[in-house]
Amino acid sequence: MIRFDVLTLFPAMFEAVLGDSIIRRAREKGLLEMHFINIRDFSKNKHRKVDDYPYSGGGGMLMAPQPIYDAYQSIVSGLDYKPLTIYLSPQGKVFRQQTAIELSKERHIVLLCGHYEGVDQRILDKIVDMELSIGDFVLTGGEIPAMAVIDAVSRMVPGVLSEDSSYQNESHYAHLLEHPQYTRPEEFMGARIPDVLISGHHAKIEAWKRQESLRNTYSKRPDLLEQAALSEADIAFLNQLRNKDTEI
Ligand code: SAM
Repeated sequence: MIRFDVLTLFPAMFEAVLGDSIIRRAREKGLLEMHFINIRDFSKNKHRKVDDYPYSGGGGMLMAPQPIYDAYQSIVSGLDYKPLTIYLSPQGKVFRQQTAIELSKERHIVLLCGHYEGVDQRILDKIVDMELSIGDFVLTGGEIPAMAVIDAVSRMVPGVLSEDSSYQNESHYAHLLEHPQYTRPEEFMGARIPDVLISGHHAKIEAWKRQESLRNTYSKRPDLLEQAALSEADIAFLNQLRNKDTEI
């Protein structure tokens, strides 16, 4: 069970994504608890204003500290612990599957979504424990990154995925990409699935999956291999692939 509180100016964006499919079912089962808190509700300004001009000039507006601080207090006051508080930011550490696995062990995570030019630094210094980026590009707001983080963390919470889903084989779990997958029919527009998959030979299928996972990683994301735990057989297979490439 994990609880997420999201501080945002656009709470309505969240239910559209996190109110459906696997995440909806996990919320209904009580494995995930989520609250989407509108920062604007905490503005003390009579026009419910939440932003202001940056002192450093330049175009755009900055989210002011007071509404965020009060919204944050509405979550933490009464708690006897500090929930891990994350600011979604293009300046943060890049979010990876390993981060999702680690965060899934937390009991309570607060996510702060910036908008416009971002957020007054003082509120970040006061409440934020960690900044996370979903990649080296800039979005208009932290809402899509927050949804990506919540989705990826949630599926690592025990019980959220069905028991037969083999997420340990999935891309990035062990610094490898997954092998190609096929479903019925056996032949589609002249293309057959690999024979080994209908051989009924369990060990051969497992060996094929491992090799195709290595092949995929080698051709699409060779940088990942540096961190993967590789057996001698894996290394021999990768050497074959490399030798083939240098022959051409
Ligand atoms: N002025 C900021 C800068 O240069 O670092 C960028 C602000 S961005 C336009 C507005 C908000 O979107 C940020 O406060 C952050 O919450 C979110 N955001 C944008 N890109 C992101 C990314 N790659 N990862 C996580 N959050 C991002």
